[in-house]
Amino acid sequence: AKQKGRDHFQFYVASIDQEIRDRKQLEKDLSQALTLQQFHLVYQPQINLETKRIIGAEALLRWEHPVRGLVPPDYFIPVAENNGSIVEIGQWVLEQACLQAKLWADKGLPLRIAVNLSAVQLRQDRIVDDILGTLKRHNIPAGRLELEVTETSFMTNLSDAVAKLHTLNRAGISIAVDDFGTGYSSLTYLKKMPVQHLKIDKQFIRDLLVNEEDTQIANTIIDLGKSLNLSVIAEGVETAEQEYYLSQRGCTLAQGYFFSRPLRPADFETFVQGFHQK
Ligand code: C2E
Ligand code: CA
Ligand code: CA
Ligand code: CA
Repeated sequence: AKQKGRDHFQFYVASIDQEIRDRKQLEKDLSQALTLQQFHLVYQPQINLETKRIIGAEALLRWEHPVRGLVPPDYFIPVAENNGSIVEIGQWVLEQACLQAKLWADKGLPLRIAVNLSAVQLRQDRIVDDILGTLKRHNIPAGRLELEVTETSFMTNLSDAVAKLHTLNRAGISIAVDDFGTGYSSLTYLKKMPVQHLKIDKQFIRDLLVNEEDTQIANTIIDLGKSLNLSVIAEGVETAEQEYYLSQRGCTLAQGYFFSRPLRPADFETFVQGFHQK
């Protein structure tokens, strides 16, 4: 038994060792991904349930690794946040989204693009200048950009985050609180924040109408949005039942596989044409 225990122990050490090497390799690959042009963006339509119009798109980052294939952002974004490379990657995302917004506007599709802004990016001193400068360089009206920030962005330095978001918002950029309800939800920051949208996290939408608690949480966020005069967008809408419930309940905006998966630009354009013809 002792012998077996020891083998197990060695196996355990070996696997941790392997994990550390894997992670080091991933970090190394990630640091070259921009240069090697392994990133691209996909766009998921955001729909107004009342007017049945597409109001914009969320830009989502994809990393096509030559060996691993598509690496999920939930896996590599935290790594990029940890080693700081999210600052450079996030700037690339913004540039790319602006280029796309310009292309679409020129084609008669003046869509608003929502870009995810990491808490690490928001902490940078230069972030406000970087964002406003990028819009200006690409000749994009600020109203064409939405920033999705999570509640963790407000945790380290609330007043700093408030000040920066205020400047961005005054310039015309709209702000959405992403993953609302999953983190540090405080009504105090909502009062202080220049926020226009609350995004109900998909974990509450998945079992909507099946799980009583999730349904109540979604209801509460919708009501909170109404009373604070913020529009509420549901993410992860996958079924007609969810869409029907949300629109009846007063949630006017939605995004999810029920409408469309995140798409490459050309497919997105085809989707928009088909959707608006329905
Ligand atoms: P998120 O911002 O909460 O994005 C929503 C995620 O839900 C996306 O996953 C999207 O593809 C997925 N999704 C959309 N509709 C549905 C649906 O109907 N059902 C289900 N099950 N999922 C749906 P994705 O693209 O894998 O991104 C995961 C997370 O990675 C994002 O969560 C965001 O936190 C982060 N991320 C993605 N792109 C960027 C980026 O450019 N910058 C930063 N900082 N983070 C990003
Ligand atoms: Ca998001
Ligand atoms: Ca989410
Ligand atoms: Ca998220």
